[in-house]
Order: sequence, then structure tokens, then C-alpha cells
Amino acid sequence: MKTLTSHPQADRDTAAPGKVWFVGAGPGDPELITVKGRALIERAGAILFAGSLVSEAATRWAPVGCVIVDSKDMTLEQMSAWLIEQAGRCETVVRLQTGDPGLYGALIELVQPLDAAGIAIEVVPGVSSAMASAAAAVESLTLPEVTQTVIFTRVEGRTPMPEGESLEVLAAHHSTLCIFLSITLMGRVTAALTVAGWSPDAPIVVVHKASWPGEEKIVRGTVSTIQSLCREAKIVSQAMIIASPTLGARQWTTLAKSKLYDASFTHRFRRASVPVSNLIQETP
Ligand code: SAH
Repeated sequence: MKTLTSHPQADRDTAAPGKVWFVGAGPGDPELITVKGRALIERAGAILFAGSLVSEAATRWAPVGCVIVDSKDMTLEQMSAWLIEQAGRCETVVRLQTGDPGLYGALIELVQPLDAAGIAIEVVPGVSSAMASAAAAVESLTLPEVTQTVIFTRVEGRTPMPEGESLEVLAAHHSTLCIFLSITLMGRVTAALTVAGWSPDAPIVVVHKASWPGEEKIVRGTVSTIQSLCREAKIVSQAMIIASPTLGARQWTTLAKSKLYDASFTHRFRRASVPVSNLIQETP
């Protein structure tokens, strides 16, 4: 456990325990935290952050005297005990997590002991690294008539995959796959895509440290080349693998347009410029 600042804040006046906020810190760029998340950090008495990825946001906006602790060497039990202890001491306690707290973040494991201790909690969503990676690569995860579905998944590592969720099965949909926590298992990823019928030329993009100022790397390849390209780029951690039939669409010359912006499409905020009788109404 590493303490960055340890000036204990003055004890609170009230006896009621404080609230623990699970805040999504965003993918790395400290400016990608939400306004609400930042405001909570600015008034926090204690912050428990998840590893180096989010330390910058914590330290940049925390008030003087805030107790800031890195959870990287703590067990879940130690983390919940710490949060409970801090909630007894200060009004606003922040658990800062990378991306969105609801994705691969042990949110429920931490919330349950707080519920049992009668401590109020709230979750503030964050920009997931999946979204930041798509943004970095200027890719759309959905495209009309290509795919309208995004799957967030991982390949099996130490955490077993539930039945029916192997990458081979999920990839059979040929929709967009945002694959977390799997960069060191790239061989398994490409093997699964191949079993699911993806062509060796199907595009894959890997984004390392998406949104990190000066550290982001984007590697574009295919099912057959991406593993060696990532090895050459020395990407072994903090990377998002996106496999999708939408990749590279920025360069396509033929593109089905979104119905939402089509001149013939009427919706709540805009009237169609062709008679409604000619239209089949459709939800965007
Ligand atoms: N809750 C986080 C995910 C935590 S799991 C979120 O919503 O993004 C950790 C995994 O997220 C990493 O193995 C990597 O796959 C991905 N990840 C986190 N930050 C990233 C970043 N800045 N760029 C690319 N991938 C990232």
C-alpha cells in the first residue's frame, strides 16, 4: 500500500458515516473524468485509487489534507475495511477506478461489505477504455448495415469464462468485439476469431494506453498479422483489442448512411423533407 499524501483530515463534526463514491476516472487522460467525478475528488477527505492508471487524476484535483492511497497491494478485504474506516472519519470518500467502475472493476465485491456496514454508496460512471480506444483510432463501433452490436469481453485467463461466453462463440456473431485484459493472450484471440470464421485479412486494431498524453500507441493489423505487430511494438499491457467489421470505415467509399440523419427520416426533433406517406417509419 502506497500513501501519496498522509495528512489526516480533521475529524468530522457529525457522527453519521460519510458516503463512499465509486467514481470512474476514465481511461487515463485526467481530463476524461466526468465533471461530477472531479467535483467529488475536489471535496474528498479520502481517496483509494486503483493503480498507476488513475493516480494523476487523484493527485491533480484532491484537496490539501486528503488521504490518498493506492490500492494496488491491498486485498479486497483490506480495501473495504479501509473504505469503512474512512467513511467513519470523513463525509466524502472516493474509490477511483479506471474507465467505468462497472466493467472488470470488482465493484460488487467492494459494495457488499459497505452495504453490510450500513454505509451509503453511489456510483459515478466513467469513460471506458473501450470508448477511448475507438475514439483514439477514429473508429465507429457500429455502422448501419454492417453491425449494430458491440460485445465487451475478454479471453479466459485466471478468471474462467462462464459457459457460452467463449470468444469462439461470441465472435460467431461477427459484430464488434472490444476485448479487455487479453493483450498477452493475443494468440488465443486470433485463434478464436479464426474458428468463428473471421478471415485472416479481417482488420483488428489494438490501442495501448488510449488517451494517455504522449503514451498512446495504435497498432492496426489483421487476424493474421496483429500478434507479431503488437510484439514488435512491445505492447504487453493496458491495451484494448478491437475486432470489428466496421474498422477502417473512414476510408470506405461506399457507406450506408445512418437513418437518423437521412432527409427522408422523420423523428421527434425533425420533419422529413419527403412526404411521410412515402416512408416506412423506422427507429434509428
Ligand atoms: N473499468 C475499465 C477496465 C478495467 S480492466 C474500463 O472501463 O476501461 C483493465 C483492462 O482495460 C486492461 O487490461 C485493458 O484491456 C483495458 N484498458 C484500461 N485502460 C486502458 C487504456 N487507457 N487503453 C487501452 N486499454 C485500456
